Amino acid sequence: MNRYLTDQAKFMGWRVIMSILMLIGLTCYANAQQQNPGFQPDGPKIKRSFLRKVMTNFSLTLTTGYGRTLYKHDLPGFSLIEKGGQLYITNESAVSGSVQAYQNWLNAPVSQTITLGPQDQVVGTDSVSLAFRGSGGNIPLNFMIHYNIGNVRLGAGATFDLHSVKKLRPSFSKDLGFYETNLKSSLLKRYYIMGGYTFLVYRNFSHAAEIKFGTVNYGNNFSGISGKGPFVDIGVSIERHLSEYFRVILKPSVEFKGFKVTLPDNGFEIKHKSPTSFMQFGVSYNIPELPRCPIKACHIQINHVHGGKEYRSRRHPIYKKQNPKYGENYPKLLKYTGKNKRKLHY
Ligand SMILES: [Zn+2]
Repeated sequence: MNRYLTDQAKFMGWRVIMSILMLIGLTCYANAQQQNPGFQPDGPKIKRSFLRKVMTNFSLTLTTGYGRTLYKHDLPGFSLIEKGGQLYITNESAVSGSVQAYQNWLNAPVSQTITLGPQDQVVGTDSVSLAFRGSGGNIPLNFMIHYNIGNVRLGAGATFDLHSVKKLRPSFSKDLGFYETNLKSSLLKRYYIMGGYTFLVYRNFSHAAEIKFGTVNYGNNFSGISGKGPFVDIGVSIERHLSEYFRVILKPSVEFKGFKVTLPDNGFEIKHKSPTSFMQFGVSYNIPELPRCPIKACHIQINHVHGGKEYRSRRHPIYKKQNPKYGENYPKLLKYTGKNKRKLHY
């Protein structure tokens, strides 16, 4: 019985794999029908490489830019102590004499026993509820690979993000000073899967909504966090197509995330919310479907055939149309460009 079930499962598994392969094959076939009609001479049909048909549907994207992270956390049941220009929090009920207090509760809490003197200020929980707000900067470097099936894209990627937070302000008082973190900067690492949909194409521009799901590793400077935290990022990729295989991208997005910091010797978990808004720019590239013509002296400007094999032109840089119509890549005549502009034309 068991043996039969395993065989059944294997059979189902193969069916799923075969279906996916057929789907990829069909998309390639459909794309090949639409795009790059090129120059097809009469005679035996010229075949294109199946592998390259699959490969050309992959997009490689590299972006960077700037982000702003907002921090917010509430400390219900805690009191705030200012002693010698430093801020501490404690959740002991009687705040007098010696108390166990914490510093660096944003990222790496340190527990210590402090003795309160007459100079020290205490803001208790009876009068106000403790909360902090602040912001930090992000410089991301993002690598992504995705596969295009019509207007749908599915992929995965990684973002390395240099992040810094300086000051957080108590939400109830301006007199108490800022909570200065000991965090100079931290390298955040994100790994994610993504999905997207191209909802608008206008001239050479396309617009795709994208969503990412992944994990954030906050780095060594966030030693108070155990493990990684989840994140969701929603954005729009605005893409200017310079050629069939090359695009420049502007990408605004908003990321929702948060993390928990556990106080040592206490077990209390502080929940921090830290959403980030990003503005990124970059480039995106697809591996061309046709190999570049290998003949150095060949001046053909469109897709063409040598010895029964089809090639793309070797005359165009990647940011120009690879299979242009007549005059499409260089619409101005040479005699009207560069230093020729100043010449008299008769
Ligand atoms: Zn050639």
